[in-house]
This record gives sequence, structure tokens and C-alpha cells, in this order.
Amino acid sequence: MDLLDRFREAIKIKTDWPTGAAGGDAAVVGEAEKSLVRFQEFLVERYPNFHKVTERYVLSPYSVVYRWAGSQEGNLRGSAARLGAQGGGKPALIMGHYDVVPAETEKWTTEPFGAELKDGYIYGRGTLDMKSILIAVMEGAETLIARGFQPKEDIWFAFGGDEERAGVGGAQNAAAWFAEKNIRFSFVLDEGTPIGVDQIPGVKEPIALFGIEEKGFLSLNLTVRQNPGHASQPPEVQATAILARALIRLSKNPFPFHLTPTVESFFTHLAPLASQGQGWAMKHARLLGRLFFKIAAKSPAIAAMLRTTVAMTQLEGSAADNVLPSTVKAVLNLRLLPPCTVEEAMAVIRRTIADDRVNVGIYNLATEAVAANPEHARFGGPGWREMAAALEEAEPGIPVLPFIMTATTDSRHFKALTEGIFRFNPIKLSPQDLRGIHGHDERISVENLNLAVRFYTALFSRL
Ligand SMILES: [Zn+2]
Repeated sequence: MDLLDRFREAIKIKTDWPTGAAGGDAAVVGEAEKSLVRFQEFLVERYPNFHKVTERYVLSPYSVVYRWAGSQEGNLRGSAARLGAQGGGKPALIMGHYDVVPAETEKWTTEPFGAELKDGYIYGRGTLDMKSILIAVMEGAETLIARGFQPKEDIWFAFGGDEERAGVGGAQNAAAWFAEKNIRFSFVLDEGTPIGVDQIPGVKEPIALFGIEEKGFLSLNLTVRQNPGHASQPPEVQATAILARALIRLSKNPFPFHLTPTVESFFTHLAPLASQGQGWAMKHARLLGRLFFKIAAKSPAIAAMLRTTVAMTQLEGSAADNVLPSTVKAVLNLRLLPPCTVEEAMAVIRRTIADDRVNVGIYNLATEAVAANPEHARFGGPGWREMAAALEEAEPGIPVLPFIMTATTDSRHFKALTEGIFRFNPIKLSPQDLRGIHGHDERISVENLNLAVRFYTALFSRL
């Protein structure tokens, strides 16, 4: 059995969360949890060396944690009782998730959980997000252990089974487990931005994007009430019109642009790789100010790096064409650019709408942005050297840039436990590859899988 066999086996374990489970159907939830447990057991079966030297803690079907003890403590296999009393060095934490999003089978050209190997690619749900990464982590550690390697400091691993559903039972629970034991990390590495190929207009060569910062997440309910009644006698001012006016004010008054140190560093270091005119603008982004923002923000992907964004995602009125609604509702999804907090964002929204008839409330779980360790934006700080050197060993010559994640990751639950978080996938992805994530015909090349294994092997050998 080789790497490819093990990876394909991982893909075939159907760890999606079926739609029936969302409704809380106990039988469906039970089946889904069984698959998650099956994945946990698959790791035990296929990575015997890893399981010989690590301590394994199964917290639930949604969470498994490992400790690979470092040689600094002089004891290969510590005991659970000693967990609380750590030595001087701080461990690293490697995160991952083994759940996947469901697949619309009829829209795929291959079987989503079939792990078909075709033209140098393996197809299947989770091949990019993110069983490939998790398997590469395991392969890297397994190989090193077989060679007799032991890290200097502890390396911890936290794998979750519900990342695609906010990570409450997985990563959040694991973070609480570590906090209770007073275990802190020098740095955390989770899934994130890839090595971009042709991702930035004008930049042809691959660039590795280390996601050192993460935007916050906030969904808001805007509601306006009125007396329900027959549509034949509408009031002069209708709830829908009040809500519509609020939405127009929001679209005309977006959040202001600003450069976080991470984003500024990204542009400054991208400049020499871009075309001449573009590079000049990037290099002088701060100086150009509004002019730079105006040009750069034409691309929604770049605009998302420069401001808190407001997406209008849902609208709801009356259930029938001839009934006045008692409540009209709009849902806004905001992504908060640090240092903007949930509280500040809500205040801005209320101020912009400037209408007491519109109620603004939090829709569901909100997450604050996670600002970068400032050292990381300057190519230093905990873990940077090891990460960059590991990439150079795995695939020489790829420039590394600090980057901001505009989506959320499980690692946000660990921000109080570490000095710095990296969100990075050591695989080369084109814009076309990216569409496979949560889309159809998700696939990874065998070449990329091998690159990821080389990266983690190189990284662990430096810890
Ligand atoms: Zn993921």
C-alpha cells in the first residue's frame, strides 16, 4: 500500500454532513458520526508508526488530538498526567479537518466519493478541502518516525470533524481542552491560502501565500415591522420600502478602505513580481491612498482585502402576493477587516441606516477578526523561518508573501492559545482548481499531493 492508496481510501470514507442531519434526525446524525469515527480509525490503521510514538486523545467523533513528544523533555512517551506541566519550549500545533461538504452527484463527471485516478489527478470530495493536506501531514510524520526522527519540541495535532459547520464540536472543543490543560503554542498551522498560480492578474509565476491574518464573520438581521393586513389597503409608508431604503444607503456607503500592515506588506512584496505599472502602484499603495484603492478594488477579491465587506444575502417579505407582511427581513453577511470588531461594525451599520424603524440584530454566531502577529507581516516571528525553509526544500524558488484570509478557518478558535497562526495549503492551485473547492469535480494532482508531503516532512524535520 502506498501514499496514493491511503489517500484514495481517505476520500472514500464519506464524511460529509447529510442534509437530513441538519434537521437533527437522530438516525442520520448517528450514521454521519459513524463515518467520522471510521475516519479516526482509518488513521490508526494506516499510520502505525505515528500511533506508536504519539499520544492519542479522542474527544468525540468531531475531534481527535495527538501529541508527538519532543526530545527536549527526554521522554518519548509522556503520560496524560504530565500534560499540564510542560517544559520551557513551546510546541507547535498542526490543525486539519476530516469532514467535507456534501456533493451534488449528478453534477459531477466522476463519483464524488469514488477517488477515481485519471490523467494524473485524483477526483473526489475532499481532495482539496482538505483530506489531501491531512493525509500529507500524516505521511510526513510517519516517514520521519520510520527514519527514527523525533522533534525537539512537542508537536500537537488537532483534527476536527465539523469544520464545515463552524467547528463548535471539533476545533472549539479542542481549544477548550488545550486551554484547560494550559497548553500554549508557539505557532499554529491550519488549512488556508494555497500556492497561487495565475491567481493575481499580471503575476504569472507561482507565489506562496501564508495566511497570517483572518477576517471576522458577522451576519445581521435587518427587520422592519408593520401591521399585517389586506394588500388592497396598504399604508402610506410600507415596511418593504423602509427596508429597501436602508439597503440602498448601505450599498451607497460602503465601509472605508484601509491597509492593514499584512495587506500593505503583501502589496509591497508583490510589486517586484507584477508588471511594471501595476508593480509601481502596489509599491506606493499607501502614498497613492484613495487612487490606489479605487483602482485595486475593481476586483472583488482585492476589495475584500481592503475593507470590511457587506454582502446582502437574503430577503424575506410576505408569504402571499396579496398579503401585507407583518415583518420584512434582510440578511447581511459582513467580513470584518481588522481592527474592525463586531460591535464597531454593528454601530457603523446602524449609523449608516440612520432609521430607528429598522431593527439590527445578530443573525447567528459572530466571529471577531484575527489580526496577524506583526512579526509575520515582516517575514519573521514564530514559525515563519521554519515554514519558509520547509517550502524552499519542498519546492525551491517560490516567493512567499504574507496574506489575509477572507474566509474563516477552525484556527480562529485557537487565537488565545498562540502567538501566531498560519493558514496555508502547500499545494499549487490555479483559479480553475479553486472552483473545485465546495464545487463539482474537485480534484488534486498527484504532483500536488507529493508536494504537500514533501512540505510537511521538511517542516516537521525543523521542529
Ligand atoms: Zn476546509
